[in-house]
Amino acid sequence: MKLQKNSQMTENDYRAAVVRGAQDIFKGHLVEFGEGNVSMRVADQDELFITPTQNDYQSLTSKDIVHIKFDGTLLSKERKPSSEYRLHVAIYQQRPKATCVIHTHSIYASMLSLVKQSIPILFEEALIFLGGEIQVADYVEAGTEQLGIQAEHYMGETNGIIMENHGVVVCGRTMQYTVKNAMLIEKMAKIYWGAKHLGNVHSVDKKYWDKFLKIHKGFFSTY
Ligand SMILES: [Zn+2]
Repeated sequence: MKLQKNSQMTENDYRAAVVRGAQDIFKGHLVEFGEGNVSMRVADQDELFITPTQNDYQSLTSKDIVHIKFDGTLLSKERKPSSEYRLHVAIYQQRPKATCVIHTHSIYASMLSLVKQSIPILFEEALIFLGGEIQVADYVEAGTEQLGIQAEHYMGETNGIIMENHGVVVCGRTMQYTVKNAMLIEKMAKIYWGAKHLGNVHSVDKKYWDKFLKIHKGFFSTY
């Protein structure tokens, strides 16, 4: 498995990567106009590139991506950053290996957020890519610093969290795998919802977890 490093990326590379991530979650039906956000941190700097507020995914281009410092200071002048940039910063500050962050309002995960239902280990990939069960963090108002602090805390050693009455946030070492984590949580939420209607859902037996968690720690963990 080869993971792309961001240490040699140019500004254009960062902008292109964020546009690509945004297009992927839009095509994957995880977000609609003006909701959710995608970012990539700048290697060895307290800076990130993030999608703009009032984001129109269909017409988004590299020029719309906003370059900011972790404290919100603008480093590019075309657009204003997503109001949820603090959520992204909280994750970057606590997780040295997190290169990208994606926040979505995907439907099935949002349904689970309303009943505070965490997602158990339904498949091996939940351990490999996400690193464990996906919990639901208690409600905090959107756009606040506290939302980020709490979401990151509830993530524990995993790469994702559902936020009560809101949506999902995930992180990863590359844009490709961060998109994958966002898609995977939504897929599992959907399958879990359906399976619960069919009968008792059971998780992958704990005796098999260690092997998959080792792969997670080696290639995909972000802390
Ligand atoms: Zn949101």
